[in-house]
Amino acid sequence: MPETAIAWFRRDLRTRDNPTLAAACGTDRVVPVYCFDPRRYGPRAFGGNASFEYPGLGAGRAQFERESVTDLRERLRDAGRDLLVRHGRPDEVLSAILDHVGADSLHYQTLPIPDERTHEQQVRSVLPDDITLEPHWTHTLHHVDDLPTPPDEIPDTFTPWRNEVEAESRVRDPIGVPEVPPLPDNVPEIGTIPDLDSLDVVGEVPDDDRMALDFEGGETAGQQRVEEYIWETDSLREYKQTRNGLIGRDYSSKFSPWLNVGCLSPREVYQAVQAYERERVSNDSTYWLNFELRWRDFFQFQFAKYGGQFFTPGGIRERTDLQWCRDETDFGRWQDGQTGVPFVDAAMRELAATGYVSNRARQNAASFLVHDLGIDWRWGAAHYEQHLLDYDPASNYGNWAYIAKVGNDSREGGFDVLSQAERYDPGAEYIRRWCPELDGVIVEYAREPWRMDEHEQRERGVVLGEEYPEPIVDPERL
Ligand SMILES: Cc1cc2nc3c(=O)[nH]c(=O)nc-3n(C[C@H](O)[C@H](O)[C@H](O)COP(=O)(O)OP(=O)(O)OC[C@H]3O[C@@H](n4cnc5c(N)ncnc54)[C@H](O)[C@@H]3O)c2cc1C
Repeated sequence: MPETAIAWFRRDLRTRDNPTLAAACGTDRVVPVYCFDPRRYGPRAFGGNASFEYPGLGAGRAQFERESVTDLRERLRDAGRDLLVRHGRPDEVLSAILDHVGADSLHYQTLPIPDERTHEQQVRSVLPDDITLEPHWTHTLHHVDDLPTPPDEIPDTFTPWRNEVEAESRVRDPIGVPEVPPLPDNVPEIGTIPDLDSLDVVGEVPDDDRMALDFEGGETAGQQRVEEYIWETDSLREYKQTRNGLIGRDYSSKFSPWLNVGCLSPREVYQAVQAYERERVSNDSTYWLNFELRWRDFFQFQFAKYGGQFFTPGGIRERTDLQWCRDETDFGRWQDGQTGVPFVDAAMRELAATGYVSNRARQNAASFLVHDLGIDWRWGAAHYEQHLLDYDPASNYGNWAYIAKVGNDSREGGFDVLSQAERYDPGAEYIRRWCPELDGVIVEYAREPWRMDEHEQRERGVVLGEEYPEPIVDPERL
């Protein structure tokens, strides 16, 4: 009997540098499978706590996922193989396929997120004992087994962790695309990729000509973006100087949506940076892109350490001294970009319209919600979760917890959003781009419209409370 393996794709939608696929391909027959798990769409609750439900996955990210699965299927078809697609729970889908084809092993990506761990356990619990189960750690730059300190003992601050990893851990070389063995003769129905209507998603797919980039899911588009950013536009050369930008394609890499569904492997990005350093230039910018990939790793390993504690109001620091307010009106105005603080409103409008926002704008909008409005940081994180194309539980909740001072940062205080606007948006171009009501006013007023007296407001056609909102907080306290 030929030996048959199932390769269960999760957030590793690629053929290159995919240890799960490569390991499955050591057999005679391989059944690649992807499940659109209905539990991932529709309303969600923090760590299973029904007291706070939120809308969950937005249409933009679901579309990105669909495109990524389509691309993976096309790649496998080009190699004469295929991808089975199901709209169902992995435990049910995989046990049915396994029964049907009589597989000997199941290979899958393992992830450090509580929900994803639960889904893995559910799959394991329904499969017969004689099936070989092979989890593979595939989504970080540094492999979990190569950490100098195991995740449950790592420091809670980034710098000592990074120093240790940079000194003592080597990034493994990416592996190539494997020769995928054929499907078994008795393969079940291949299945179609569900359309957006049949997935329970919220809102519309973003379509705005001010989008930083036309994000298209898939390994092919992800590789094209690496090619474009690193080689064609040579943008990596100045990444450290441009990375706090707010407008445009190339101030930062925009790799995040592809990294987070696994269309891009961080090790391949690292390898491309190394090649660039050899062939063009090795400088603080090339170092800094890897530095940011290590931030991404850090949050993944923090989740491996703390798991669901990241979703609690007091976070991993178990803070009980912070009282979060739950003002739905203020929260709604923040979500809608109607706080009356232009730098924050610009960020929130960009997020809703495009699904992507720069790191600088994300930080400021988050800090405003938490420190100036005092609203439960998890509400904000849930809103980002719904809209971000690059949403990743560890990066999102990890960064939010960091800003809310309940995570991996022991300092107090938030951002001064007004001085941040002055520093990072000196010409108020970002503000005007997303708050066109403020187009006709001078830079200082675009940033702080409440400085205009009533006469100036009328003269410039921006009456606060009519054309543009009054600030919802006392600007003197910002
Ligand atoms: C409140 C808040 C929420 C966030 N939510 C997410 C999220 O859900 N998913 C996500 O990928 N990033 C998140 N980030 C981190 C960061 O904003 C994005 O990774 C970055 O803006 C993506 O754009 P880029 O690919 O051009 O980044 P670049 O600046 O080009 O960085 C390269 C890569 O490094 C990684 N990276 C950079 N900064 C961070 C960081 N602070 N934390 C973790 N990884 C980082 C990303 O994978 C990114 O693609 C969040 C940041 C904040 C402040």
